[in-house]
Amino acid sequence: MAKEATRPNLIARLKGNGSKKPLLIMGHSDTVKIDPSKWTLPPFGASHNDGYVYGRGTLDDKANLFAGMMTMLMLKRTGAVTDRDVILVSEAGEESNSAVGIGYLVAEHFPKIEAEACLAEGGGVIRRAGKARWATVQTVEKYPARIQLVARGPSGHGSRPLRGNAIVHLSGAIEKLAYWDPPMKLNDTTRTCFEKLATLADPEEAARFRDLFIPEKAAAAREYLAQNEPGLYSMLHTSISPNMIEGGFQANVIPSEATATLDVRALPDEDLPAFHELMRKVINDPAVELVPGARTRPGAGPMSTKSEFYGAIEAAYQKTYGIPTLPFMGTGATDMSQLRPKGVQCYGVGAARDDEDLVKGFGPHSDQERISEDAVYKHLQFFWSAVTAISGAKFTK
Ligand SMILES: [Zn+2]
Repeated sequence: MAKEATRPNLIARLKGNGSKKPLLIMGHSDTVKIDPSKWTLPPFGASHNDGYVYGRGTLDDKANLFAGMMTMLMLKRTGAVTDRDVILVSEAGEESNSAVGIGYLVAEHFPKIEAEACLAEGGGVIRRAGKARWATVQTVEKYPARIQLVARGPSGHGSRPLRGNAIVHLSGAIEKLAYWDPPMKLNDTTRTCFEKLATLADPEEAARFRDLFIPEKAAAAREYLAQNEPGLYSMLHTSISPNMIEGGFQANVIPSEATATLDVRALPDEDLPAFHELMRKVINDPAVELVPGARTRPGAGPMSTKSEFYGAIEAAYQKTYGIPTLPFMGTGATDMSQLRPKGVQCYGVGAARDDEDLVKGFGPHSDQERISEDAVYKHLQFFWSAVTAISGAKFTK
């Protein structure tokens, strides 16, 4: 199944007895690029070292793909009889080009992957000091809603500074937006997530999560998260990050225009025109125009945490690791954003990773991406347990 000959997707299906609709398990075989000069171990060698497997994609997303493939093989080998077809999809283009991956499959081959539920990347088990603490399940995600800021002003000679300088106005607008704390809006998923964190985290941390719900303490708690937990802070509201800036063409010329690209990540139920209006108020400068871009990804959700699917995932994490599960909202985009609007109930899962590894430079997309060997095996156990439960597998052999 390929839109581009060199980037094929693979679809495999194990037939069930048809009493329930299919379950889709999905992983992506593509990875982000590598800079070979930065890798001390071969980037695609799966080198074993100190109990870890090193290589590009070990965390993102080969662990899921491996667990999915092994689960299919084991269902086949054991002659399991299932209530649902189990479909495995290995996607060829998640990281930078979903047009050859999920975009293509949804547009041109949807009947082949249509399912009631889907397990894909996006969640995982959080380990601290080598101990599994809790599992996260991605039930909803933000969507990109990029914006351009365009500042305009008089041009002139650089030797005679102008108060109307477009660059000055643009910088002012960016700074105001960057330090703005947009209104906190929780949905079912994020409310449950923060409530659970308030009971599971270490005492000091837990107190801060409780503070989020106490009006007079919430602002300070949010500021702490903004500085120390940017991922959690981003879950509280539609976020804005200024990531590209352009203006001027010669050192002695005051330019008449300067632009900035803002990476805005919207809450799934955000009223964007109203949010843009708030942004304009924060900027409060008629010289700066806000130009919203086209929406690039659909989206839907949150998925229910009361569904049989969430229940099976929760039970599988409990059984495999003996830990609780909390739902969370992805701040980035995954391919589930294309499936959810088609009615597929998608849940993001994943293997265990060490929280400490993120800052040490061993995380996904890093130059030393790694997964612990133990996490690979455990993830398969989890996957097997979740998939056999959801598909109602019975073993007669
Ligand atoms: Zn990925």
